[in-house]
Amino acid sequence: MKIRQNLHIHSSHSCDSACATIKDIQREMLDYGMTEFGLSDHVHSAFNLCDIASSRNDFDVYATSPCFHFGIEATCMAKWECDAIAAGNYKRQGDDPVYGLRYAELPMETPELMLGITEAEIQKYHIEYVIGGTHWPSIGTDDPEKLYEDNFQQMLFLIRHPLVDILAHPWYDIEHSIGGMHVHRPGAQRDREAFLHIPDRMNEQLGAELVKFGKCAEINISMFQDNRRPEEARRKYWRILEDWRDAGVRFTFGNDLHAAHSCKECLALMEQLLEAHGFREEHFKMLFE
Ligand SMILES: [Zn+2]
Ligand SMILES: [Zn+2]
Repeated sequence: MKIRQNLHIHSSHSCDSACATIKDIQREMLDYGMTEFGLSDHVHSAFNLCDIASSRNDFDVYATSPCFHFGIEATCMAKWECDAIAAGNYKRQGDDPVYGLRYAELPMETPELMLGITEAEIQKYHIEYVIGGTHWPSIGTDDPEKLYEDNFQQMLFLIRHPLVDILAHPWYDIEHSIGGMHVHRPGAQRDREAFLHIPDRMNEQLGAELVKFGKCAEINISMFQDNRRPEEARRKYWRILEDWRDAGVRFTFGNDLHAAHSCKECLALMEQLLEAHGFREEHFKMLFE
């Protein structure tokens, strides 16, 4: 199958290490034959909303193709940390509040969740689509059972959120979380068997809710690029996606670009992998066609 869509692209305006220019993104995506592609710079808390403003300004100048769209990747945040950041009630301890108050006193149970952007701001910046992603636990524990449950609750929150169109990279952070990287860093390991222990009931419910709320699940290239992940864990991840597909979930594709340039070979390899796992173009939802 041919990948014609890439909705998950970070530009140099993203708050992290992303460094691609909007001009290069447009040229490379059109060269590859993408008919629908878009920016998705990060919004965590309102603290880094200024990044989206600058991304939008540049987009308005350099994005000239009708195939090029303006989206965001919004992180699932806790209400208490967003409130504290909005009130200026934080101390910088190495981490800017761009990433929330992750390493302060985290609760043991999933707190009230929210996005760091409002509907009015989405209209203000003419944001055409929202990818919602979990990037870290909202609880401070190394108990695997609680961490799976927390990641699951965050994903349910995103699927049910009226502003979210796409669930980003399902289970993205679970290997870090289960490995204890958010509690014991540095020195903690990534647990590359973490996919194997995701409870089936969670995946079944996530698939059912994606269908019920008409939301897309993202097939994100970064989820397939860890060569040290055991074969069995890779198979498990594919099986989750295949089960969702068979349950009627529609997908979007993203290469989660953070480098200066997209890797054409990686996209071509992904096309082969998708085909080998029974994915066809009709399983992907084109948002703008
Ligand atoms: Zn992400
Ligand atoms: Zn991303």
